[in-house]
Amino acid sequence: MENQRVAQIFQEIGDILELKGENRFRYLSYHRAAQTLLNLSKDIRKIYDNGELEGIPGIGKALAEKIAEILNTGKCGTHERLLAEFDKGLLELLTIRGLGPKKIKKFYDELGIDNIGKLKTAAEKGVLADLERMGEKSQADILKAIQEHEKHVARSHLITATFLAEFLIGYMKDCSKVSRAEYAGSLRRGRETVGDIDILATGKDHNQIIRHFLAHQDVSLVLAQGETKASVILEGGVQVDLRVVDEKSFGAALYYFTGSKNHNIATRKLAIKKGLKINEYGVFKGEKSIAGKTEKEIFKVLGLPYIIPELREDQGEVQAGFDGKLPKSVELADIRGDLHLHTNWSDGRNTLEEMVAAAQKLGYEYLCVSDHSTSARIANGLDLGRIKDQIKQVEALNKRLRGFKVFKGAEVDILTDGSLDFPDEILAQLDWITASVHSKFTLSSAEQTARLIKAISNPYVHVLGHPTGQIVNRREPYELDIAAVARAAAKNNVALEINSNMRLDLSATNIRIAKEHGVKFVINTDAHSIDQLGLMRFGVTTARRGWLEKGDVLNTLPIEALD
Ligand SMILES: [Zn+2]
Ligand SMILES: [Zn+2]
Repeated sequence: MENQRVAQIFQEIGDILELKGENRFRYLSYHRAAQTLLNLSKDIRKIYDNGELEGIPGIGKALAEKIAEILNTGKCGTHERLLAEFDKGLLELLTIRGLGPKKIKKFYDELGIDNIGKLKTAAEKGVLADLERMGEKSQADILKAIQEHEKHVARSHLITATFLAEFLIGYMKDCSKVSRAEYAGSLRRGRETVGDIDILATGKDHNQIIRHFLAHQDVSLVLAQGETKASVILEGGVQVDLRVVDEKSFGAALYYFTGSKNHNIATRKLAIKKGLKINEYGVFKGEKSIAGKTEKEIFKVLGLPYIIPELREDQGEVQAGFDGKLPKSVELADIRGDLHLHTNWSDGRNTLEEMVAAAQKLGYEYLCVSDHSTSARIANGLDLGRIKDQIKQVEALNKRLRGFKVFKGAEVDILTDGSLDFPDEILAQLDWITASVHSKFTLSSAEQTARLIKAISNPYVHVLGHPTGQIVNRREPYELDIAAVARAAAKNNVALEINSNMRLDLSATNIRIAKEHGVKFVINTDAHSIDQLGLMRFGVTTARRGWLEKGDVLNTLPIEALD
């Protein structure tokens, strides 16, 4: 899929314009377009072929022309010109958290730093701290950010990797010899990030299936190629491994390569106890295969109920299967509405009416408009006058809607001292308040925890939005005591959010901790455009990894229960 490549070019154009000190709106339009493309589930070339580029939110005529240029020529003139002006190493510096164009320019002018390696050396030697307006703390922060960057750089985000994998599966199925194709590995288990993509296929002519795979237009390097296996690197830098297996072993291979390794070890021990042998070809009694075509068969001969991939982490799921105590995992179809999304009143791209129409299309019964509060200036947060206007608009809209309700809400900033960014007079007029932290990420754990608990104990708050501040692959969670926050949330009847967008916050691990303290959850997309409403599935996946059931999730409830 070329979405990733086009997004990368747009991201770089935006980065260079930012470094050059160009107009903020100009570079942001490229950055936003890049994000949109990464979140797009449809193939950009298909959209282009249908002449619908300008139908993508945030893509105007100029950007549509650039996309067409990239799809037709593989390049973009603007991008090439800007690249010629700038060193690639300088651009990479922009990917370090907390480093903006101003600091980068300063480091370059004063210390000649033009890549991450030089920056790291300078920070380690203590040279950065001596610069004007820097100091020991800023230097330590930069070093920490470089270490995070090194950890992330080789892994893909769940959302982009899933769309890419689904696109590749579609491509494999275009081959007439392929009867089944699925992706496996940590991606199928729904991990936040994945190292590479594992694809399994079966069908009549193994050789031709492998040839079809290698012929994909995005393959930039073939690492290995054999009778049953091939490994490639795609244009975007992602490694994809294909294994072609016999039809009678497809389920066994899917199970084996989905892992996790530790889960597989647990079930292998179980098989041995039963006098069976399990491997990627099947389950065997002596030499005889007794299961292998489907995963269901495999669980059956092991004496287990089917365990969904999201739970296969060796976190007690095998024992729970035996004891009949596996969760009845929440499903996407259980979700009845989205309670955190933005419109063009703040930093969203679509009108409220457009968001409502898109939510209705998804079969939802409600949504909550939750634009930013005043102090979120970058996000065009609503002041008291504008939130009152919006409340009126929602009331008028609800009179026209049938079988659908828009809750009046807001994503209210939690200020440094834990108080909220709207006065009680406004909060009292709203149906549903999501309180979120968007600033002061570096407080100590004790301070951050106290700040969140104070916000949670505000009687107007319904949900703590993206509770740890993490953005997967981009920003680590801030320091906090999640158990203490969960206890306070349970006590005050405040739900914790599972944010389905790039944040994936809470994480599966934190969900399990929080659940132990009796908390309820909401799964929201935090959509900033209509297409992002479709990201709900990733929050649901994360909730399933956190052992949640329908009853744990408030937005599986009908309108009346929330009203
Ligand atoms: Zn937010
Ligand atoms: Zn938001």
